[in-house]
Amino acid sequence: MQTQLFPRVAVLGAGTMGNGIAQVCAASGRVVSLYDVRLDLADRGKQAIAKTLDKAIELQKSTPAEKEAALSRVKITDQVADAVRDADLVIEAAPENMALKTDLFRQVSAAAREDAVLASNTSSLSVTEIAAAMTHPQRGIGLHFFNPVPRMKLLEIVVGERTSSDVVERSKRFADAIGKTAIVVKDSPGFASSRLGIAIAMEAIRMVEAGVASPADIDTAMKLGYAHPMGPLELTDLVGLDVRLSIAEHLHREVGEQFRPPQLLRRLVRAGKLGRKTGEGFYTYEK
Ligand code: NAD
Repeated sequence: MQTQLFPRVAVLGAGTMGNGIAQVCAASGRVVSLYDVRLDLADRGKQAIAKTLDKAIELQKSTPAEKEAALSRVKITDQVADAVRDADLVIEAAPENMALKTDLFRQVSAAAREDAVLASNTSSLSVTEIAAAMTHPQRGIGLHFFNPVPRMKLLEIVVGERTSSDVVERSKRFADAIGKTAIVVKDSPGFASSRLGIAIAMEAIRMVEAGVASPADIDTAMKLGYAHPMGPLELTDLVGLDVRLSIAEHLHREVGEQFRPPQLLRRLVRAGKLGRKTGEGFYTYEK
């Protein structure tokens, strides 16, 4: 099956987000080139896709034939130029670091077709600044997926200062083609999703600090009172307290006082209580 829009996609970075993005693109019939800095890392990304598809088969949401077809469309590589040479769309999912991302997009610009759309999955960095490293920055855009990518419906399209309207329109159609619901947001700190998510989380932490209620009761308030699937403190444990602290610090610098991280959050991070990944955050977990 060949699709009309962005039939060849390159995904840069085969970690948590990259392998999920590669999976949804391949499942929608696209040919995917999955790049990581080492071949074993790219291969681990492909194996993660196979595992997720196995689970989908168990749950009768997919078939062995669909799994094999999707996997056969994912090629792995440790060469950026090979990954992007024929791509219609490049989606970068490398670590959240501006210098790393701009360096990567300089390499991509030198090897990709001039008309390829170049997207970053950054969750907080400026898309305008990332696109400034590209030749033809009007093709640069933010395509912010959510974790786990195959399950989460939202695709936040982040429009940089120089992003062309044609690239925005095609990105919206792409979201539709891979089964996501798009929202379109101007490039601004934290976009829409992280800014609102962090605002709720920081307030919830301040409430724990002030002894308003226990973490469990605050989470229950949002789950049963506002139909959030997870409470803000559970979600902070899942994402990682260190990750949320660094986003809050960024928003505090860029937006204002309302994002000042609470002392309690800093104390927990200093103590190495980073949430699920360390076994303790606002809750404790079995290792
Ligand atoms: P991750 O650490 O799981 O994966 C990053 C991958 O990039 C690793 O496999 C690493 O080997 C690879 N990498 C390192 N240097 C690279 C380079 N120079 N070029 C290409 N790949 C390189 O990270 P992740 O959670 O998948 O996050 C990736 C991006 O997605 C970040 O920008 C992050 O902010 C964003 N994001 C993450 C989440 C999340 O919940 N994890 C959600 C939305 C967006």
